[in-house]
Amino acid sequence: MAKAKKKKFCSDQHVTDEVIKLIENEGLAPFIKTWENVAGVNEPTSMGTGKQYNGINLLWLSMARMMYGYTSNLWGTWKAIDANGGTIDKETYKEKSQSIIYMSKIIDKKKIDKKTGKPKEFWFRRVSNVVNLDEVTFPNGVPKKWVVTDEPDMNIVPPIESCQGIMDNYFNGKGTPTLRHGGNDAYYMPSKDLVVLPERKQFSESSKYYSVAFHEMGHSTGHESRLSREGITAMNHFGDHKYSKEELVAEFTACFLCHHVGITDTRENSASYLKGWVSKFKDEPKMLRQASKLAQKATEFILTGEVKGYK
Ligand SMILES: [Zn+2]
Repeated sequence: MAKAKKKKFCSDQHVTDEVIKLIENEGLAPFIKTWENVAGVNEPTSMGTGKQYNGINLLWLSMARMMYGYTSNLWGTWKAIDANGGTIDKETYKEKSQSIIYMSKIIDKKKIDKKTGKPKEFWFRRVSNVVNLDEVTFPNGVPKKWVVTDEPDMNIVPPIESCQGIMDNYFNGKGTPTLRHGGNDAYYMPSKDLVVLPERKQFSESSKYYSVAFHEMGHSTGHESRLSREGITAMNHFGDHKYSKEELVAEFTACFLCHHVGITDTRENSASYLKGWVSKFKDEPKMLRQASKLAQKATEFILTGEVKGYK
């Protein structure tokens, strides 16, 4: 048993060496984001009217979505939720509903507009409260019109069994992070212990999807209930030192897990990503080695649910 672990350690070490060599290569291509944005999935949309919000409501609801890590772009009033068979906890509604402003019109039939000969119209500003679809429970299932389905004109990238196995294993256990798909961003939100990924169909190749998934899974191992890594537990500003190091840990984890399942075509882009972050440190090689050690623990945790091997 001990022998097998040592072997894995060596292979991780070998990957680290290869990645460092790539980083040191002057000709390394810049990092590229590996998924396509999907139009419309990010714009806040009303459940009641099916129309996209605009102006201040659009800005406000987009911000609220990021803040709470919602994957849905749909927002509805109590009435719209109820009319579509949804229920929502009163406290949640109070706490999580967002105010939107809209213009409403009344027609006064008693007053006739002299110019048009029609009843006069009066516009006034109204405020309404809406909640995100993610907060709503649908006892009979989410209405079909709101279920995000595969669009036929998009890539169908098949799952890679070994990768999917690692993901299913990791997310389906007890006390594991929540996984959500949807939107145009990939991130881990420590406060909600939530991993958010774009849909697989947004990637041109399956390997690229799994590399991104493994990166975010890598971050989630830093949660206080798991490996309690400072880069996650004390995360404050994007781009600060602790966080930069955490980015290295997450990307090395992706490299190791990809190596574990035999994916190599994502490695150069990973090296480019690492190069971008490690440039913030003076002693680059030392920082890469440190991050690689932490990533080895993260990798082992994702694969086995514990860290026994190399300390
Ligand atoms: Zn990251």
